[in-house]
Amino acid sequence: MPKKRLVLTFPSRLVDQPITYFLIKDHNLMVNILRANVTPKEEGRLVIEISGKKNDIESGMTHLNEIGVNVKPLTKDVRWYKERCTQCGACTSICPTEAFFVNREDMSVSFKKEKCIACELCIPVCPYRAVEVLF
Ligand code: SF4
Ligand code: SF4
Repeated sequence: MPKKRLVLTFPSRLVDQPITYFLIKDHNLMVNILRANVTPKEEGRLVIEISGKKNDIESGMTHLNEIGVNVKPLTKDVRWYKERCTQCGACTSICPTEAFFVNREDMSVSFKKEKCIACELCIPVCPYRAVEVLF
């Protein structure tokens, strides 16, 4: 089943609307919210992963565009520069998805890119600039 990671940006008038509920109920999509930044009276931003049939994904995206939601693919690419990493572990304690994790056998730090949701929390905590976000 196709999966897509998307960034939804929407105006304040839609902040209290159940946007993801409509995708589930009316378009038969499975929706996993990876990151939400919704402030009343301001713009809202959701990073979601959707899966479903191709036609349902297309109709869901059309619906979002029609109600005024801007839909973009998640294109941020988080890179780990292993050669700069000192294995301090700071990123592993802040990473919400365990994309950065400690290998229990040798206590080394590793990065599993497919688990990363590009939340950028690890960027400011890394003292050696071993993590970067590319657009
Ligand atoms: S950006 Fe960093 S903190 Fe966020 S999920 Fe990816 S690795 Fe983890
Ligand atoms: S915070 Fe930076 S230096 Fe420390 S383990 Fe993570 S990537 Fe390596």
